[in-house]
Amino acid sequence: MFVPIIFCILLGAISATPHDDFRSNLEFADYGTNWVNNGYRLNDFVQPTEMIVDLDVYLRQFRFDGVVRINVDVTENQLNQIVLHQNLVKVEGVNVVNAVTNDPVPLKITDPFSVNSTFELLVINFDSPINSGKYAITVRYEGKINENPIDRGFYAGYYFYNGAKRYYATTQFQPYHARKAFPCFDEPQFKSRFTISITRDNDLTPSFSNMAISRTEQIGNRVRETFHPTPIISAYLVAFHVSDFVSTEYTSTASRPFKIISRQGATAQHAYAAEIGLKITDALDDYLGIQYHEMGQGVIMKNDHIALPDFPSGAMENWGMVNYREAYLLYDPEHTNQNNKNFIASIMAHELGHKWFGNLVTCFWWSNLWLNESFASFFEYFAAHWADPALELEDQFVVDYVHSALTSDASSGATPMNWDTVEDNLSISAHFSTTSYAKGASVLRMMEHFLGQRNFRNGLRYYLRDNAYKIGTPENLYDALRQAASEDFTFARDFPNVNVGAVLDSWVQNPGAPVLKVDVNMETGLITVTQERYVVTGNQPSNPTWQIPLTWTHAGEMNFTNLRPKTVLSSPSTTIQGAPGHNWVIFNVAQSGLYRVNYDSHNWEMLGSYLKSTNRQNIHKLNRAQIVNDLLFFIRSNDISKALGFGVLDFLGSETDYYVWAGALTQLDWIRRRLEHIPQAHEAFTNYLLSLMNAVINHLGYNELATDSTSTILNRMQIMNFACNLGHAGCIADSLNKWNSFKNNNETVPKNLRRYVYCTGLREGNATDYEFLLEKYNSGENTADMVVMLRALACSRDQTRIVHYLQESMNNDKIRIHDRTNAWAYALQGNPENLPTVLNFFYNNFAEIRTKYGGEIRLNTCISSFTAHLTSHERIEEFHSFVYQNQIALEGSFSVGDSVARSANANMLWGNANAPEIYEFLNTKSGAATIVASSILLLAASLVQMLR
Ligand SMILES: [Zn+2]
Repeated sequence: MFVPIIFCILLGAISATPHDDFRSNLEFADYGTNWVNNGYRLNDFVQPTEMIVDLDVYLRQFRFDGVVRINVDVTENQLNQIVLHQNLVKVEGVNVVNAVTNDPVPLKITDPFSVNSTFELLVINFDSPINSGKYAITVRYEGKINENPIDRGFYAGYYFYNGAKRYYATTQFQPYHARKAFPCFDEPQFKSRFTISITRDNDLTPSFSNMAISRTEQIGNRVRETFHPTPIISAYLVAFHVSDFVSTEYTSTASRPFKIISRQGATAQHAYAAEIGLKITDALDDYLGIQYHEMGQGVIMKNDHIALPDFPSGAMENWGMVNYREAYLLYDPEHTNQNNKNFIASIMAHELGHKWFGNLVTCFWWSNLWLNESFASFFEYFAAHWADPALELEDQFVVDYVHSALTSDASSGATPMNWDTVEDNLSISAHFSTTSYAKGASVLRMMEHFLGQRNFRNGLRYYLRDNAYKIGTPENLYDALRQAASEDFTFARDFPNVNVGAVLDSWVQNPGAPVLKVDVNMETGLITVTQERYVVTGNQPSNPTWQIPLTWTHAGEMNFTNLRPKTVLSSPSTTIQGAPGHNWVIFNVAQSGLYRVNYDSHNWEMLGSYLKSTNRQNIHKLNRAQIVNDLLFFIRSNDISKALGFGVLDFLGSETDYYVWAGALTQLDWIRRRLEHIPQAHEAFTNYLLSLMNAVINHLGYNELATDSTSTILNRMQIMNFACNLGHAGCIADSLNKWNSFKNNNETVPKNLRRYVYCTGLREGNATDYEFLLEKYNSGENTADMVVMLRALACSRDQTRIVHYLQESMNNDKIRIHDRTNAWAYALQGNPENLPTVLNFFYNNFAEIRTKYGGEIRLNTCISSFTAHLTSHERIEEFHSFVYQNQIALEGSFSVGDSVARSANANMLWGNANAPEIYEFLNTKSGAATIVASSILLLAASLVQMLR
């Protein structure tokens, strides 16, 4: 969402690329006929037009019988086979008829059908070749309800109610798991209507699917429910759910139904999701100009949201029936902290955004997953912001998504948004990544600022209108945005010869993201800007050119509100005529674009002294956030001297803003960890960080005020958590105070302070503190709060408790399968002294971890989390030799372990190379004596806190 050029005239060229010369066109030419040599892909000359799926579900036996009838259009003659997807227990029979005449189509007697388990296919062999026309395929089969939710497909989970364990079964089909529930054309491009029937046991509540129930039949002691046909959708969007769950209806309007559904016992936690979800639906209806509830093609779309105790991903946008992890839907005003409240709003907005982007218009193939996920991630923040501006999600978008996109793009291995090597299941899964989500959303936000809010919105409306119930391609989107821009004469006036599609396409096709190098000649006013791909470590694999919409302002005439670009940089370098004068410049106003900015030394020095002055807040908070984040990366990549970089960063010593600190903390911690094996530098850097944080800690205070804004609450959470971990005496004393009141007097800790208060209580306590919190965990009813406790339990320094914790992570059925790997990471984060314990546990139990955590991918996640914590040569060597000695038993995880050891080693080398310069800066800055003195000051401050 988001400039008259008075003082600047562009001297460099704004070049336009030829109208249709996009690399993605080549890819779509290939798509027209599909990939001939790719065994995973289906041919598009057999198109499903209708799917009727009938399942007989035996929940307690974890199995089902299925019959599916698939109507297809065949557009080719002389066809010997029809090939579709399956990944079932057993295909029992296949039968094909001519759908017009109802005549049977004979199959090969010797070999009527076969299954290919490598490519997950069902191959139907005809006795003699068939010609184009309409056919109906019926398949009878046996399927299983997966007992491990990580396996996806149709899977079972459990919960406890009145002391009894109850089971439920639900689905997660994206991206390639629908074939585990019924044979189908399991690629996003194949869209059809689905009619679902489910037969279940009598003692369960009515089942759920995408659509409302149209018919209920009693069959013996079982019940069969048939649902209305869906609109035209891809197989991965089909969903159903069999359980004794209960729902709360939140609207009295028959034409706009809205329900929150959960296990029994949690209905008191439904209200917030309903309140915000209804507002988000309304906001998206208005913005996109297509009503959600009217998308059902003849049937009213229902709007159900189901909280699941076990869920392999965060949430899933099945049309009419969205699935969530409980922590992302159920809100308890006493227990759900601000972070989790924001998650509930933003994740609902993400899933609702998908109803238009993904469900109504679907990406053609997973290589262009961004056409679904970037939009959902964009609305995740902005639609939730429209529904409740007090959550401040619009600004958080920058420090959450723009920063994480730039972090991910700083890797030399970054992949492009349009990643044309996506072909098999592994590469499909890998593309559900920061690139498709955070980066894509950041690029869309940049395009919105470039086109203007209204043009951008109109472009999205054209894209949806022209491609509804069909597939979308990047080219369809470029066309729609070009059309919207062409209707605005001011755009054509301000950006003559700029091809909107080409601008966006450069971001879609190029891997990585650029850094803008800015050199200001203050005598002449000439500003030289040069773009290149930013890579934090290693060689630059390629140096493409982006078309970068540029915004900037300067000290002589500050403007941080006009985010409309002044020009588009489409060449590697250009010069801009600015006003002569001794003024700093800032590019990328409010970080409205997806690029870093590195200035010449003099401009940095001027920015540094301005930021240290009392005028600091005249520079937009999001630019202050960008400056700290960029500088810390430039320090990491040696693109700036430590003295200059840290010299500017010194302004953090008086900074109190949430956003600025959010841009800094992760990277400051990254540097601190790289110094862990050099105690002198590590201690000096830790003390430096503590001194930088004094002002913000004093500003926030240890107690919440009723008037605190969302960002103040979030700031206290992030700052105190970091400060307590660094050993800030005041933070520790106050937290202990609160912890002891909780433990001894049952005085509840305010929900937003629990993470660091609990952690400090356990860190400074003993086994009894651990047992106390574990008991609270085991009797918890709000999942988000339970995750806070799970994290804090790992803060215990009692290593027998840490072993107990790791055993619980495998065996305690209150720790959900999706939280097991989190527990592992928390055990490593709890205390540095936990590392040897966790390593030993890994050495002795990796095979069991693999089974109990849900498979090899989960074990790999555990192994990867060692990287940041292996900070001594001895540990790295020990770990590396274990991995080598056990490579056969480690199976596919061996290579992950090997690369973890190499990365940990590279991290240490960074510390070795940079510690002297950092130490020197800290010494020159304050002198060794001053560092000691500041520790004494901190101690004094903490004594004051303890006496309060
Ligand atoms: Zn999504």
